Amino acid sequence: MTHPTSQTGRTEDQTTHPTVSNESTTEAALRRERDTLQLILDHAPIGIWLQNGQGKIEFVNQAFCTATGVSEATFKSVAHYAELIPPPFREQCLASDRKALATFGISENNQRLPFADGKVHDLNIIKAVKRDEQGNPLFLVGLSVDITDSLAKQRALAESEERLRMAMAAANQAWFEIDVPTGRVTVSPEYVNLIGHDLKVPLTTDMTHWQSQVHPDDVERALAVLHQGLQQDEPLSVDYRRATAWGGWKWLRTVGKVAERDDAGNALRVVGIHTDISLLKAHEQQLEHMAHYDALTGLPNRVLLADRLRQAMAQTVRLGQRLAVVYLDLDGFKAVNDTLGHAVGDRLLAILAQRMQAALREGDTVCRLGGDEFVAVMLDVPDTAALTPLLARLMAAMAAPVVLDSLTLAPAASVGVTFYPQAIDVDGDQLLRQADHAMYQAKQSGTNSHAIFDTVIDQDTRQRLDTLARIRQGLNDGEFVLHYQPKVNMGTGQVVGLEALVRWQHPTRGVLPPAQFLPVLQGHPLAIDLGNWVLAHAIAQAAQWRDQGLGLPVSINIDGGHLQHPDFVAHLRSLLARHPQLRPGDVELEVLESSAIDDLTRANAVMTQCAAMGVGFALDDFGTGYASLTYLRRLPAGLLKIDKSFVNDLTTDADNQALLRGIMGLAVAFKRQVIAEGVETVAQGEQLLAIGCMLGQGFGIARPMPATDVPAWLAGWRPDERWTATPT
Ligand code: C2E
Ligand code: MG
Ligand code: MG
Repeated sequence: MTHPTSQTGRTEDQTTHPTVSNESTTEAALRRERDTLQLILDHAPIGIWLQNGQGKIEFVNQAFCTATGVSEATFKSVAHYAELIPPPFREQCLASDRKALATFGISENNQRLPFADGKVHDLNIIKAVKRDEQGNPLFLVGLSVDITDSLAKQRALAESEERLRMAMAAANQAWFEIDVPTGRVTVSPEYVNLIGHDLKVPLTTDMTHWQSQVHPDDVERALAVLHQGLQQDEPLSVDYRRATAWGGWKWLRTVGKVAERDDAGNALRVVGIHTDISLLKAHEQQLEHMAHYDALTGLPNRVLLADRLRQAMAQTVRLGQRLAVVYLDLDGFKAVNDTLGHAVGDRLLAILAQRMQAALREGDTVCRLGGDEFVAVMLDVPDTAALTPLLARLMAAMAAPVVLDSLTLAPAASVGVTFYPQAIDVDGDQLLRQADHAMYQAKQSGTNSHAIFDTVIDQDTRQRLDTLARIRQGLNDGEFVLHYQPKVNMGTGQVVGLEALVRWQHPTRGVLPPAQFLPVLQGHPLAIDLGNWVLAHAIAQAAQWRDQGLGLPVSINIDGGHLQHPDFVAHLRSLLARHPQLRPGDVELEVLESSAIDDLTRANAVMTQCAAMGVGFALDDFGTGYASLTYLRRLPAGLLKIDKSFVNDLTTDADNQALLRGIMGLAVAFKRQVIAEGVETVAQGEQLLAIGCMLGQGFGIARPMPATDVPAWLAGWRPDERWTATPT
């Protein structure tokens, strides 16, 4: 603002008043009131002024003087305030005055004025006119609020929004904006392109309309996501199908975000982007089809079968029915491939797949597992009687001749069937295995035949699996222990060693002898694990007794399969190496004469290698196997352990006595030692000594005991006097 005097401030002091002694109290009160009013007017953060009908300023507050840089005196000195306004802004002021004078009530306008800070400010100006009874203007009150800052902010916001819009348009994005309270939706032209409406259609629509355009299957989900999206601040994303102008649906992915909330946190404005994901979805569906269907035959594949079977099983149980799982394997398909080529093989498979599908009832599923293997799931098949006609139809369809160009093929299939549910709980995989198993049986009984899985036999194998799992767990949990049974020279009382015998301290069934768990392990790799556990612990025990100066050799029972394991010698060597204090003969191995040693040359080699490490062998239960003499001849076992069945009735059975004498003779001839097991009585010992068998083991000497009991037993052990007295 230009002004004749640059001085600001007041020309008369209106804040101090001389006290007049004769002044009435009313006047003093009025004066006080006027002072207060003046104070308020001066310091209000808005400009306030009063002008008469001719534009002469009669009052102006201090805030306005300060802001404009024009003093009150200057304001009051001019005939019309417009003289103080620089020409470019003058007309606007006069126009606003004219408008106010023509308005009964309040008039308002925005205008711009240069201020003392040298900048042009945006002002919101409110004017009111005081009139006389005839309506002629007496004076005009003006209020001016500086809105420069808020206008600048508003402009910046608008600009940034505009820039955003331009950017989105440039990016070819179909954006949208929802005004939540009114439900109005504004969309960009790209969105209109996306769904195929031409641009004449108004861009602004509303939520109800939007809903009517969404695929009925997607509305609920889309709305749920939207609703949830309104609560959170992270962007929300929803995929849904939307009607297009040319008919049909388009898959859209809408990513939106709440852009504005009110003080209570309610969403006011949501903005976002729509993307056309139809191609993506189509691709997804294609992938899904590929993942679930066999490309050659179009039948469901193994993955989808698992799913369907699971559903069928659940439904069957719910309805109290039974279902049949039918496993089909083409007979001679490999020959077709090999002689006629894969192309012919493929065509044959495709034709048979079609036939199978046609032969099944609605609701049944047939799928291709791969190769020439198919599985059909037949619902509601109560028993084999109900199965027979269904199966006959299926197999007839498979066996009908197939004409391919000039070729006529006669296909056939082997079929295995199992039913569900069964006496025990089974899952889909097990059903497939059972049906597969039955199919193999069918194959063995000739082409184009079928077999039904026998669940009774299977339960036995299942029980075995359970036991094996339990043994493995027991082994991990340290439930196995070794007991030791002394071997003595009955004539001298010398203890020649101890036999390690494994026990299972079952947490619920108590201490189990080997007969209760070893047979299950027969031929299973777990037998090797348990055998290695025994080896390690028995050898460690022998080493400990060596350390204690007891020098007690330990004999360890070895399963024939374990002995023939390729790693056996190396493993034994590493176990022995852990205990360098051990001497040759401290560890001995007992091999059951009856155990399956199928490669004697190999067993011989192993035993020879062990002998070189100072580990001798005993042939256990000697005389019970059918190959005793062969073993005796071919295997380098230094000790023959006479089976307890010979010792048992030694005192009464003359034949056994003769047999034993024979064994003793053989032992001498082959330079082998002999020990008798199962010595329960003194009399048996006497007999054995009488025929020259000095070594014995049995309950009559000691029962198997924990290793910790051995020292005490050794201290108390005396052979029976009748034995030491027996002449040998
Ligand atoms: P084995 O090697 O012939 O062991 C002797 C069996 O006879 C032991 O039974 C022992 O307790 C029992 N016995 C000992 N003295 C007498 C007696 O005076 N009268 C009677 N009636 N029996 C007697 P156990 O401990 O039940 O072992 C049975 C079999 O299990 C063993 O026969 C052996 O073949 C096998 N075995 C034991 N421990 C192991 C092991 O750690 N590994 C392997 N592979 N087999 C083992
Ligand atoms: Mg033994
Ligand atoms: Mg034995």
